Amino acid sequence: MSDELGASIRYRFNKYLLFVPDYDGNWLLYNPIHQQVLKIDDEMKIFIENLAKQKNINISLGRVDNKINKLLKTGVIIRYDFDEIEYVVNKYYKEHPSPYTLYVEFIMSWSCNFACIYCYENRIKKSMWGNTLKLGHISKAFEFIDKKMDSDMKLSVDLTGGEPLLISSFPQVQYILNETKKRDGKVYISTNGYTLDIYSDLLNKYQSVISLIRITLDGVKKIHDKRRPLQGGMGTFDKIVENINLLLKKYPYLKTKLAVNTIVDESSVSYVDEYLDYIEKEGWYGKIGLGIGPVGSYGNHGLFPNRKEIFNKLVDIFYKKKNLCKLKYISIDDGIGSTKIANVLIMQRRLPLIAPYRCQAFSPFDNSFVFSPDGYIYRCSLFAENKILPIGKYYPTIEEYHNNLKDIQKRNLLNLSKKYDEKLLPLNSGGCPFRSMSYKKMNDWINKKLTLLDVVEFVDEETIIKTAKLYIDYLKNCRGSVENLEIANGS
Ligand code: SF4
Repeated sequence: MSDELGASIRYRFNKYLLFVPDYDGNWLLYNPIHQQVLKIDDEMKIFIENLAKQKNINISLGRVDNKINKLLKTGVIIRYDFDEIEYVVNKYYKEHPSPYTLYVEFIMSWSCNFACIYCYENRIKKSMWGNTLKLGHISKAFEFIDKKMDSDMKLSVDLTGGEPLLISSFPQVQYILNETKKRDGKVYISTNGYTLDIYSDLLNKYQSVISLIRITLDGVKKIHDKRRPLQGGMGTFDKIVENINLLLKKYPYLKTKLAVNTIVDESSVSYVDEYLDYIEKEGWYGKIGLGIGPVGSYGNHGLFPNRKEIFNKLVDIFYKKKNLCKLKYISIDDGIGSTKIANVLIMQRRLPLIAPYRCQAFSPFDNSFVFSPDGYIYRCSLFAENKILPIGKYYPTIEEYHNNLKDIQKRNLLNLSKKYDEKLLPLNSGGCPFRSMSYKKMNDWINKKLTLLDVVEFVDEETIIKTAKLYIDYLKNCRGSVENLEIANGS
């Protein structure tokens, strides 16, 4: 194409595009770079796929046909020298110049009352067991938080572990709830649910601060008790179910903040059908948030379990007529972001959020802190567990290690794009480096033989399409009429 001065401008195809089937038999052409979705039919899809094979696209100024014009306008065809990743990164920081939220995680204790078969706790050095946050730690942590909090920032507090709601941690949990309330913050608790009866009055007292209580239940009793027993081997299923029903019956404010997550692997996925019936019998659909997905490795598996096959089996279970409409109440998650893309585009009819970093661990802002019982501050619990790259110290004195923070923040979309020529890279910015990390890779990372830029997991196109088709089935069979479901394009 030649510009108004007649000079020729070379064009090419935007390489970060994704075709997703839509409910009406057409396709969504999703462009995450310009945050645009183009609704196209099969003929246009073939036209675009053929065009994409051309290295250069020559367009003569006077005779731009409608098809090409549409593709130019929606960023499908771009100037040859256009840098898609640079554009998406600059756009993000223009729209998000500073953080709105300060993310804090308290690792309450490295101890746990459970002995789950797939938990990274199994490799926690016995020397770390018993390391629990003391009240002195927490008061220093809030001193640090107050230093970092701007007046217009929100405070988001995660309680994790080991197990955060151990009976021995009661005073510390109460202290955190109270201090968070003073700062108008919100608390998210990831618990195994076994002591919820003991904590229920306290949580109810602070129900205005509690945003979410995530409980793990790994399926029906015979499966759950085998996978998530107490230290010593006793089953935990009955007690957890009892506690969930206690919160549902006795605490009207808390019940809306409950979520039950279910982790499956090849040994338990075939029991999901029975488990979905069990949830129905308990009357939990529509009352509590429900999520289900394959187990993660986090350096705990020699060879990472075949996550994709497990997920495909899960999808097949939901294709069953009796389970399909349960998708209204239960979210399926492959853990790397593929299902999320399909859910947002097909079910929620909006555009996925594109961020130039995977999670708060790699946030470019100074707004994410994990307080470990060892008195140091990290960016993620996996760093804390391996005492690697602390970004500061908070107990007994406060110090900051900016070089370590800069090192961690290098794992971002721009640097990943220089290393990986992957069209789906912007959809999850390389994913969580630990989720599929094998035991060997974890050791190589600990021994500095690889960096977190070397460990990536991109969203999976087949999984996006498979999940999209499942959601289309749900829309057609469970949502009544599916007319004109538009998707609002980005700016
Ligand atoms: S790096 Fe992975 S494990 Fe760590 S906070 Fe991010 S998503 Fe979670």
